[in-house]
Amino acid sequence: MSLDPILERLNAAQRAAVTAPLGPVLVLAGAGSGKTRVLTHRIAWLIQAEGVSPHAILAVTFTNKAAGEMRARVESLLGMPPGVLWIGTFHGIAHRLLRRHWHEAGLIESFQIIDSEDQQRLIKKLLKAQQLDETRWVPREVQWFINSNKDEGRRSKHLKAGNDPIRAQMIRLYALYEDACARSGVVDFAELLLRAYEVWRDQPALLEHYRQRFRHVLVDEFQDTNTIQYAWLKLLAGAQGCPFVVGDDDQSVYGWRGARVENLQQFSRDFPAVKLFRLEQNYRSTGSILAAANGLIANNSGRLGKTLWTSGEHGEPIRLYAAFNERDEAEFVCQRIRDHVAHGGLHRDVAILYRSNAQSRVFEETFLAARVPYRVYGGLRFFERAEIKDALAYLRLIANRRDDASFERVVNLPTRGIGAKSLETLRSAAREAGCPLWEAAHACLGEALGPKASTALRGFLELIERLAEEVRGLALHEQVDRMLAASGLIEFHKRDKAERGEARVENLEELVSAARGFNSEGLDSDLPPLEAFLAHVTLESGEGQADAWEDCVQMMTLHTAKGLEFPIVFLCGMEDGLFPHQRSSGDLEGLEEERRLCYVGMTRAMKQLYLTYAEQRRLHGIDSFSQPSRFIKETPEELLEEIRPRLQVSRPVASGRFARELGYEPVPVSRPRYVPRAPREETPPIPGIRLGARVRHGKFGEGVILDLEGSGPQARVQVNFERQGTKWLVMQYANLEPL
Ligand code: ATP
Ligand code: MG
Repeated sequence: MSLDPILERLNAAQRAAVTAPLGPVLVLAGAGSGKTRVLTHRIAWLIQAEGVSPHAILAVTFTNKAAGEMRARVESLLGMPPGVLWIGTFHGIAHRLLRRHWHEAGLIESFQIIDSEDQQRLIKKLLKAQQLDETRWVPREVQWFINSNKDEGRRSKHLKAGNDPIRAQMIRLYALYEDACARSGVVDFAELLLRAYEVWRDQPALLEHYRQRFRHVLVDEFQDTNTIQYAWLKLLAGAQGCPFVVGDDDQSVYGWRGARVENLQQFSRDFPAVKLFRLEQNYRSTGSILAAANGLIANNSGRLGKTLWTSGEHGEPIRLYAAFNERDEAEFVCQRIRDHVAHGGLHRDVAILYRSNAQSRVFEETFLAARVPYRVYGGLRFFERAEIKDALAYLRLIANRRDDASFERVVNLPTRGIGAKSLETLRSAAREAGCPLWEAAHACLGEALGPKASTALRGFLELIERLAEEVRGLALHEQVDRMLAASGLIEFHKRDKAERGEARVENLEELVSAARGFNSEGLDSDLPPLEAFLAHVTLESGEGQADAWEDCVQMMTLHTAKGLEFPIVFLCGMEDGLFPHQRSSGDLEGLEEERRLCYVGMTRAMKQLYLTYAEQRRLHGIDSFSQPSRFIKETPEELLEEIRPRLQVSRPVASGRFARELGYEPVPVSRPRYVPRAPREETPPIPGIRLGARVRHGKFGEGVILDLEGSGPQARVQVNFERQGTKWLVMQYANLEPL
């Protein structure tokens, strides 16, 4: 068979990497330069030109979707199914190994994987058995402690408590958890990776077997491997293996989850014979998109340094839209999509990327109203999320006590001590009397239920009654707000220290925004606002769903978009505080990770890139006025084209739907035009005053310089002070002393 199909659509640098002599290879290259393509072609090349058996190849990708695509691509290159080739995610491959070597791994043959929820339930049982108070030993914190240690390869026996009694207890819980998992034969996600590592580390014969077998291990998105994944890879490759890894330090976006971009450099140290390849031609994006992304990422320090160019057309400018608020932003995007489709384009050409999942709601509502098909990736549709459904269940009960499903859903959420047994008692009482659970509950108090369960249940019944009383007459969003606080739902998720908890609190706050923006006028009924709202969300979550294979707009977070490409990309919510996320913008490291995320976002675009921001945004239930993201001003100004509102109206319009009915675009009066701030070059060079430098201020103490702008008397500097937080100062008065 000819090798042409494998090599013909590769440039010289790509071809060199694909055909590199057997041995360790590192491909370090920017976005859209063909890394994933090179990896796929390398697999085909190994099989066809080097005569490597597909049996000897192991390919690791970051998502199952990517794994599926890679398999299909290899298949089409080879013209036949690659059969026994192993392609999967780190977790998937670890699982496969453990299934084969359960005995060596110290597992039982029928071991089961538990997800994060199951893991937490197990931890709760443990705490109970130890008679530890859950409010003090929050199960989610224990879970986080266990998982993050596993991700670093540390078992409980490796940990030292020192003089810290809390840590000592955590370590003890970790040990008890390990025992409990072993007894019940279950394995959590972090355990899969750690166990797969240990089984090789501790079984030299087994390791040798796999080293012989998988001489060729290939890893995509290598910059986002964590400690245990890299250790596992290194073990497998050993001294003889031929690891082939591709990555881009500028796209490392999982530092907060333990990923170590340093693994790129470590790789060269651990495999001194490594052949390094750089790919510099970008095939994905137009010249202007590429220049914008390059201009942005140039603001990061400590990069490994890469050049990226395209022979393609310069293309259209990057479009910048300053929305009045988040609804205007969504309306604008929606209108552009409709224009695109009206000119023969497809919905699926378009991706909407955002920093935070909660941003999807306003887009979803706008698209539903405009009948634009869409799909939200990597997250449930807003009203289908568990935490939202929990909150809605409270509201439903407030509106209607006979709603059994809602009763069941929240009677013990947050945990109140109404267990499965009590609930079963209620169920059978309700069955017998043929009445709703709510009534059965009243009848069972003190009777069929023990005193403890009765007290707990009474508390719940009273809570609902009291809430129903309290919220009567309040504005809808106040009702929601009151319910969230009184039910304990917000508190409950706040105690979850993992990012998931934070996301859930944000979503709940977003529900308050949804309620505030809900306009029951125009709905042809005279239901009270709460009932109208509940009907609205139920209808919304069932209708207008588009499936993956249909032609629909793609919506996802920037993290989810890694590795993908789309003809048209909207980067939305480009506001300081939202993106860069305020949690990450306080330190240089966090800020640089956010900037990489923005780079990932921009480089997803093939033909058109839009940046949008809202001058006023209601998110998580709070109205805020924000500055355009610093990433806008870091994008070279000459590449940007600001889109001017089409029509001036005399006042801001509350809802997009309303605006459309009146036949105009919802834009406000005399909106200040966005003026990009002066570019950085004009900043007067003061010795020692540069990004990342440590400085001392007479009043605020020591801090790190996060940003500089303007020149002459206007020059300003942003410093993150250790004790006082982030401040903008006028350079000429600040008297900063470089340290
Ligand atoms: P990312 O960093 O975003 O993961 P990547 O480096 O993995 O990007 P690919 O996804 O492999 O890049 O390639 C980007 C796009 O360029 C794809 O559409 C790919 O098919 C195309 N491409 C890559 N190399 C070539 C080439 N030599 N000729 C034509 N098209 C190419
Ligand atoms: Mg890729």
